[in-house]
Amino acid sequence: MREPLLKSISPRSLLGDRAVWPGDEQYDMQRRVWNGVHDRRPAVIARCVNADEVSGVLRWARSEGLAVSVRGGGHNVAGSAVADDAVMVDLTLMNSVDVDPVAMVVMAGGGALLRDLDAATTTHGLACPAGVVSHTGLGGLALGGGYGWLARKWGLTCDHLVTAEVVLTDGSIVEASLADHEDLFWALRGGGGNFGVVTRFTLRLRNVAPVVHQTGVYALATTEEALLAYAAFAEQQQLDLHTVGAVKTAGHHEWIPERLRGKPALFLTAGWFGPEPDGPDAIAPLFRSVPPDGRLDQVLSYAALQALGDHSEPAGNRYFTKSCYLGDVTSAAAAALVDAGHAITSPLSSIDFEFLRGAIADVLDVESAFPNRDAPYIVTASAQWTNVGEDATHARWSRQTVDSLALWQHGGAYVNYVQDTRHQSTMDLYGDSRYRRLAATKSLYDPENVLPHNQNIPPVVTRP
Ligand SMILES: Cc1cc2nc3c(=O)[nH]c(=O)nc-3n(C[C@H](O)[C@H](O)[C@H](O)COP(=O)(O)OP(=O)(O)OC[C@H]3O[C@@H](n4cnc5c(N)ncnc54)[C@H](O)[C@@H]3O)c2cc1C
Repeated sequence: MREPLLKSISPRSLLGDRAVWPGDEQYDMQRRVWNGVHDRRPAVIARCVNADEVSGVLRWARSEGLAVSVRGGGHNVAGSAVADDAVMVDLTLMNSVDVDPVAMVVMAGGGALLRDLDAATTTHGLACPAGVVSHTGLGGLALGGGYGWLARKWGLTCDHLVTAEVVLTDGSIVEASLADHEDLFWALRGGGGNFGVVTRFTLRLRNVAPVVHQTGVYALATTEEALLAYAAFAEQQQLDLHTVGAVKTAGHHEWIPERLRGKPALFLTAGWFGPEPDGPDAIAPLFRSVPPDGRLDQVLSYAALQALGDHSEPAGNRYFTKSCYLGDVTSAAAAALVDAGHAITSPLSSIDFEFLRGAIADVLDVESAFPNRDAPYIVTASAQWTNVGEDATHARWSRQTVDSLALWQHGGAYVNYVQDTRHQSTMDLYGDSRYRRLAATKSLYDPENVLPHNQNIPPVVTRP
C-alpha cells in the first residue's frame, strides 16, 4: 500500500491545464458523456495521467467536502461519470494497454476503451472477453460485470480480473487481488465504481481466431414463431456459440429484402468461436425450423466483430435504457416482444436480447459481487432518438416494453444497464445478502461515500 501525500494540493497546482474549470474553453467539451440527455456541470474536471494524480485529486476533494465522479469511457446510460458540482476524475488520458502474450495477461489503464484493449491484444491473437461496442469504456464495463460475445465460452470481463490498482478515497493506493484486499477484489467484480478509482486493470487473456458470423432477418409477422425456435435452440447451443437477437428497424442493406427495409424486424445473429470449419453446421439448426427472409454469412476477425456495432449507437444522441433478466421465452413473452416491436417510437431504438448462462453461470455465486449468474436471458429496451422534446415518449416505450415482460422476469437487472434509478433500486439489483456485504465493504473503503455517482451502495451507518 502507498500512503497518501500529507498535504492537500488543489487540482490547479497538481494538474495545471489538465484541471478544467467552468468557463475554460475546454469545459463544455470535456463534461460531455455518451448519452446526450445528461447536461451536468461538475465543479472541476481533473484529467489525470497517473495514480498519484488521482490520489492528490481525491484528497483535495475530501478536504473541500466535494463528492467525486469518475469517468472511464463515459458510456454509462445514467451518465454517472459526470455530476453537478462534483469533482470529475477523468481517466480518459489513462488509456495505455500493455500485453504480456507469454503470461496471457493485459495491463490496461482505468480510462482505456474496449477498442484500445482489443487493438493491443488481437495483434497477438488474444482477447479479454468484453462488451460488443468498441467505444465503451473498460472501467465501468469491467466493474459492473461485462457481457459480450465470449461470455458464454469464458465468462464475464470481471471474471478475468487478476489484479486492480485502486486509489482509495483517502488517497492511498492499493493492489487488490485474491491475495491482497480480498474483500475489495470481491466487490470490484460486479459492485461497480463504489469502492475506489481503478487506475490499472490486469486481466487474463484468451486465444481468439476468425469468427463465423451469420445473421438472419425476419418480418415481424413470423417473429413470434422465430423467437420460440431461437429459445429452443439457444438453450441447447454449444459453448463455442453465442447468439443474440434484436427487434429493430431494418436498414437498407442488399441482403435485407426490400419489403422489410425501414420496418421493425427481428434479427437473429450467431457468432461461432470454435474451429472455423465447424461453424456453419453448428449454426444451421438456428435457421432451420423458421427460415429467415434474408441472411448474411461472413467470417470476421475478432477485432472486426468487436467494431461491428460501433456506428449504431453514436455519442451525443439521446438514450433511455431499461433492462431485465428473463427466466423463459414462452409464446406469450414472444408475443409481448412483437407488440413492443410494433409500438417502437423511434427508428433508432431496439430491443436486444440474448441467451446467457454457460461460463457465466459456472462461477460460484459467492466468488464475486456480480449477481444473477443463473439468469437465462437478458432483454434490453434501448430507446435512441435525437429531438430534445421527445424524451418522455421514448423513455415510456422502453419502460413499457420491460414492464410488458413482468410475468416472465427472472428478477434483478444488470447494473450497467440501469438508468431508471427511481424504479430499479440498487438493493433489488443485488439482492439482500449480497447488498449487505457490498455495503459493509463500502464502509471499509469509502466510509464517507465520496464516490456516490454510480449505482450507489451507501456505507453502513454504525450507531454508537
Ligand atoms: C453503446 C454501448 C454498448 C454497450 N455494450 C455493452 C456490452 O456489450 N456488454 C456490457 O456488459 N455492457 C455494455 N454496455 C454498458 C456498459 O458496460 C456501461 O455503460 C459501463 O458503465 C460503461 O463503462 P464506461 O467506463 O464507459 O462508463 P462511465 O460512464 O465512464 O462510468 C460508468 C461508471 O463506472 C465508474 N467507473 C468507470 N471507470 C472507472 C474506474 N476506472 N474506476 C472506478 N470507477 C470507474 C464510473 O464512476 C461510473 O459510475 C454498453 C454501453 C453502451 C453505451
